[in-house]
Amino acid sequence: NDGVTTSQKLLARRKRVLGAGYRLFYQEPLHVVRAEGVWLYDEQDRPYLDVYNNVASVGHCHPAVVAAIAEQSARLNTHTRYLNDAIVDFAEDFLQEFPAELGNITLTCSGSEANDLALRIARFATGGSGVLVTRWAYHGVTAAVAEVSPALGDGAIRGPSTVLIDAPDSYRRGISLAESVAGALRDMRQRGIKPAALLADTIFSSDGIFCAPPGELRQAAELVRQAGGLLIADEVQAGFGRTGNDMWGFTRHGVTPDMVTVGKPMGNGHPVAGLVGRPALFDVFGSSQRYFNTFGGNPVSARAAHAVLKIIREEKLAQNAARVGDYLAAGLRRLAARYTAIGDIRAYGLFIGVELVLDRQTREPASELAFQVVNLLRGRRILTSTTGPRANILKIRPPLVFQTEHADLLLEQLDRVLAQCHA
Ligand code: PMP
Repeated sequence: NDGVTTSQKLLARRKRVLGAGYRLFYQEPLHVVRAEGVWLYDEQDRPYLDVYNNVASVGHCHPAVVAAIAEQSARLNTHTRYLNDAIVDFAEDFLQEFPAELGNITLTCSGSEANDLALRIARFATGGSGVLVTRWAYHGVTAAVAEVSPALGDGAIRGPSTVLIDAPDSYRRGISLAESVAGALRDMRQRGIKPAALLADTIFSSDGIFCAPPGELRQAAELVRQAGGLLIADEVQAGFGRTGNDMWGFTRHGVTPDMVTVGKPMGNGHPVAGLVGRPALFDVFGSSQRYFNTFGGNPVSARAAHAVLKIIREEKLAQNAARVGDYLAAGLRRLAARYTAIGDIRAYGLFIGVELVLDRQTREPASELAFQVVNLLRGRRILTSTTGPRANILKIRPPLVFQTEHADLLLEQLDRVLAQCHA
């Protein structure tokens, strides 16, 4: 059939020019041509339910974001060395979403750049070099940030200043975050490494989706601050209402970070990200160091991000994430009562991990099963993926406009797939 041959030709052309570094989802790659709301459409215009994309957080191709980008593109697009309203309008409004102490923002084009800048500022302001990250953390692609992203794999370079701590794993729980940080700080003292920061994804997404018990991250941050370091909250995944009710994951932990990095859903697909922090930090850094990012904070990006912010507020998407997320989690728990392969469900708004295991006693990860489930769901036009060091955790993270009817569709298809796998 025509669709298949078109996709196969595209696949061959793609391999030829993009090389081996580019990966595709699914055993049978999906060729998408358009999208709307929670739906992606393939080359034959068949709809697929998007249960995975947190970038198109206010819904794919939201008309207000599309209009903001189109209007500003037609008027002016330039860098931040001219006075222009767009970035100031956005920054003033956006900073309202943060604790008052966090009064400055620098805009970048990616979460990686935001984390990279956060590390530079932290090292500059503290005089330390050590960065504490969780064992399977992911913070981005620049050389500096890749060093603090063990999830990139064994081949990734990890300098002496990267110090690993345990994620707050509530399923196979070992020690608390604070205990792990205390141990790491002792070790660093012995090795003569002064801490610059604890860099934490507030939902510990790549580690397997965990939320430490209230207060643990705060305690950990206190220890790091006593040792002269800072807390950087990576909200690239957890932010913008994703985890329900609150705009930011750090709120749930009851802690105010020194710096916060944001990205992914910030422009609903337009590349805009940023670093928010205490003005004193930006002052120290900015007084002697230069930071100019050619595209970061351009008026089109600022308008896109502003449109997204307004939609999240107007459509009450953080509340929707809590409501629909709870509904979906309840349905998943009903499935867990029937399928022993579901070992654990960790649900925070519309950020849900469904951990698949071979045996509920031993809790041995069922990586192969998770792979099968993801691919069988794709065959049923439900798009999701996995996370965690063993890729055995279904990662359910749909656009925030997800409704209960979409949750029902996911639950129905997941039920069939688990039955098919004798899970
Ligand atoms: N931090 C976290 C927690 C992320 O998930 C990602 C992207 N997956 C990044 C940082 C890097 O963001 P970007 O891909 O925009 O550079």
